Amino acid sequence: MTNIDNKICHSLLTWMKENVKKVVILTHANPDGDALGSSLGLNCVLQNAGFSSVVVFPTDFPPIVPDLNNHHNWIIYEQHEKKASQYIIEADLLFILDFNDIKRVGKIKKYLENPKGKIVLIDHHPQPLIETPFLFSDTSVSSTAELVYDFVLKMGWSHYLDALGAGSLLTGIIADTASFNHNARRPELYRAVADLIEMGADPDKIHEALFNTISEERLRMLGYSLSEKMEVFQEYHTAIIALSRDELRKYNFKMGDTEGFVNYPLSIKGIVFSALFLETEEKIKISLRSKGHFAVNQFSASHFNGGGHHNAAGGESRLSLSEAVKQFINLLPKYAKELACHTGDEA
Ligand code: 5GP
Ligand code: MN
Repeated sequence: MTNIDNKICHSLLTWMKENVKKVVILTHANPDGDALGSSLGLNCVLQNAGFSSVVVFPTDFPPIVPDLNNHHNWIIYEQHEKKASQYIIEADLLFILDFNDIKRVGKIKKYLENPKGKIVLIDHHPQPLIETPFLFSDTSVSSTAELVYDFVLKMGWSHYLDALGAGSLLTGIIADTASFNHNARRPELYRAVADLIEMGADPDKIHEALFNTISEERLRMLGYSLSEKMEVFQEYHTAIIALSRDELRKYNFKMGDTEGFVNYPLSIKGIVFSALFLETEEKIKISLRSKGHFAVNQFSASHFNGGGHHNAAGGESRLSLSEAVKQFINLLPKYAKELACHTGDEA
């Protein structure tokens, strides 16, 4: 169970029956497994329920969802701007999934300022970004995909969830929990997973698509990042990896290739805070992860114009790579106490 409200579902359903033909599902740029899985899963359900539904992804993505070829009606905005924007403009209803920071939709932002269609927001990030009567926000769940599953049940649409849709939702859950490694304490999650498997989701296939399809170059870049680039600050229980544009170019970097790199330093005993700095064309992209009580979303909001979840957040810097790293390192003494707390050390 999640906090999805039956009454709101009921009023949405009643309104949809009268007013909705065209639906658009939107998620964030550089969509991860949860963004992809939750939106493609919901798209299957809506299509099976007879709506004309399409997912608009702001940017391209790696092929980490199984059976992507069997999914219909999805489009990448940066590749088909005209058609994608037409879908958004004409939609009677817009679903916004898996983001709480408007800058994460990039150029699509302008279409969300005054849309013709009503908005339904389904998300598990703190501080939802849009005011709408159809707000489904629960930060206790594993993933947006888990929340979408409960939404589908409460809308009375479970019979529209086929094997393809169930597989997509399970992809979102497995991606956002890193195979049930975190945000995976609630027993209800496993009931949802069992349901999805009964509906035809194949966890082996999902695992293969999510984790075992990387290129040789990407694995070598991980090796290089860990052996040559990781800096460990034992005193602050922190580790960082910073990759320059030249280094990224050497390994033929595409957005998404470093997914997961930031988690590795957390497997070192005593390390509770990990940061990955990537020098992209226009900015330094920062990924932050923590274990335990240290809130990386607050850290990012305070210093790197970002946000996210308690243990997984992102941000950015307009400084040079070395200056951004320096700023980060200089901040650590200020957080020494909080960082030491988790490990039981004295700060
Ligand atoms: P990642 O490190 O995988 O890019 O992002 C981890 C999480 O941090 C994402 O799921 C998202 O919630 C959040 N996040 C990443 N970048 C940003 C950002 O620039 N702003 C905000 N508010 N959240 C971000
Ligand atoms: Mn998510």
